[in-house]
Amino acid sequence: MKVLVLNCGSSSLKYQLIDMNGEEVLCIGLVERIGIEGAVLKHEKTGKEGKHVVEQPMKDHKDAIKLVLEAIVDPEFGAVKDMSEIDAVGHRVVHAGEKFATSVVINDEVIAALKECIDLAPLHNPANLMGIEACEAILPGVPMVGVFDTAFHQTMPESSFLYGLPYELYQKYGVRRYGFHGTSHDYVSKKAAEMLGKDIADLKIVTCHLGNGASIAAVDGGKSVDTSMGFTPLEGLIMGTRCGDIDPAIIPFMMRKEGLDADGIDNLMNKQSGVLGISGVSADFRDIEDAAKEGCARSQAALDTYAKRVKKYIGGYAAEMNGLDAVVFTAGVGENGIDMREKIASDMEFLGMKLDKEANHVRGKETVISTPDSKVKMLLIPTNEELVIARDTLRLVK
Ligand code: ADP
Repeated sequence: MKVLVLNCGSSSLKYQLIDMNGEEVLCIGLVERIGIEGAVLKHEKTGKEGKHVVEQPMKDHKDAIKLVLEAIVDPEFGAVKDMSEIDAVGHRVVHAGEKFATSVVINDEVIAALKECIDLAPLHNPANLMGIEACEAILPGVPMVGVFDTAFHQTMPESSFLYGLPYELYQKYGVRRYGFHGTSHDYVSKKAAEMLGKDIADLKIVTCHLGNGASIAAVDGGKSVDTSMGFTPLEGLIMGTRCGDIDPAIIPFMMRKEGLDADGIDNLMNKQSGVLGISGVSADFRDIEDAAKEGCARSQAALDTYAKRVKKYIGGYAAEMNGLDAVVFTAGVGENGIDMREKIASDMEFLGMKLDKEANHVRGKETVISTPDSKVKMLLIPTNEELVIARDTLRLVK
């Protein structure tokens, strides 16, 4: 069975075609600038040198998906002979509110429910829906599954998801913590149990998904009991360009001082903040680390502030779970940031975390990075959200 995994952003689209017999990625690609001048598709076939690049105007996601399907059946770079070989499509969907706690087969009711969630994720859900509607039109009759970023965190108790706001706002508008990156936290926590040879039901794990967007989750017995992202993916850790936790009173203060409206402040907190805002150099940790080494004080401050925030969450979640067996690092910075992992995991011996600095000298490979006598195990686990989406799709359409 072959599953096409689609991750539609507002102007981009990432895809993989996975053969579920052996879970082999057949081809992978990215479309950028959909609906904007300079649209481009970059496609790679596993085992074949070079990229198949198509530069062509695409007015919407439907145009983009048509080109993706053409690339997938391309005589030279294609992975299958005919579109009919695609048995199912798995869609990444960002926000399902409280509607879905697991992945589901997409039908008209699911589409209607996702439309109701647009208010909660105005940047993401419309793009996800466009991808679903485009596939319905181009691949009629091919079953589709929705896999939600929020679903894994639906096990959080009310005490983790309520804000200190009037309860009526939760009832009226759904103002609560939802959490994101669920497929990643789910995947790496299960993989950690597997690597440690333990039953996940017996483990208290903190999973650190440190990418451009970053979030931490407390996973107790395989269930998410708390997570750092909230109503939107803005809360929690300091990220590439997002501010994470701040005093909410800063918002009206800055709006008045800088003469910003709601969109202006939203843009400032989402796009101009985080390590980019602090360092003034870049949102990319490689650039910030280089600048800090050359004596840029603001870059050093960005790295220090970032690491401290992660430490606070690890400590907080250990307290919340009344114990800690493992800490997992994943996503761009978590998988590749040797120095950042060391900064976060150092001076945590009181919690039972002892880093093996030599073992930590690794990128992008499943590795235990704590010392053998460390009470809390630390692991580097590359995330694989596409595989989770493909597996869920297979399970549900079988
Ligand atoms: P996204 O949220 O876009 O999926 P990723 O998980 O791919 O993000 O993470 C991207 C980030 O990973 C980059 O912005 C960069 O900061 C970080 N990163 C990638 N490689 C390295 C590296 N070698 N050292 C430190 N950070 C890295």
